Amino acid sequence: MAAAMAVQALYALQNGFMGFARAGLFYGEMSGERVQIPIPCYLIRTGETNILFDTGLSPRAVPGILRNDPLARFTDADLLVHRLDSLGLEAGDIDVVVLSHLHYDHAGGTELFRASELVVQKDEYAYAHYPAPFFAGFYYRKNFDLPEARWRLLDGDAELVPGVTVLRTDGHTPGHQSLLVELPQTGPVILAGDSCYWQEHLDGERVPGVVWNPTLALHAIKRLKTLARLLDATVFPGHDPEFWKTVKQPPDAYR
Ligand SMILES: [Zn+2]
Repeated sequence: MAAAMAVQALYALQNGFMGFARAGLFYGEMSGERVQIPIPCYLIRTGETNILFDTGLSPRAVPGILRNDPLARFTDADLLVHRLDSLGLEAGDIDVVVLSHLHYDHAGGTELFRASELVVQKDEYAYAHYPAPFFAGFYYRKNFDLPEARWRLLDGDAELVPGVTVLRTDGHTPGHQSLLVELPQTGPVILAGDSCYWQEHLDGERVPGVVWNPTLALHAIKRLKTLARLLDATVFPGHDPEFWKTVKQPPDAYR
């Protein structure tokens, strides 16, 4: 019984790459130099539940990004539906979608999962509908204007199923959340989302350049570092190109 409920596997799903300015990556940096960053989603399988962490870019947005961003790279295989298909899954097989936050590169594919429970912090959901002008370009209402969907609006940490726990890590946005996944062989993994773009954000306690509240963003980084130390967990940064080269890709998984 307990074994059936435990987490079985964590799959990394590549949803293409885009260019991003260093000034957007690191708070306080002025450099407009652009670097190529991966856009990841993750699938967690337990005995009875399929959980998706983030939904990447909207397929609708891909042609424009490919046209306007010389560092963008997006193949047919990068489409989230094709990544899921390669694992023998359809959108309807996803029970729960955890959205780290509602920026366009994390919530873009959400409309595919109207039948799933959509888990987001209530502060993020509220802010995304009425963002400040300096943040409006990151929130596309079409991505999350799904009033008929089953939204589960959280206020802080929550264990979703045994071994899968939402961790509130706001600062990058008003309601950012990360996900702790307790794997039987790999041990605990924390999917940081945009609370830590790169490993360098963890190691150097560097705040994202795109940030709603830099002080809270720093607290979130420190919180994840503390949890990782206490749990002996591995933190997966959200958009780290060097880290991404080392990540197991399907059909390989973290177990
Ligand atoms: Zn973001």
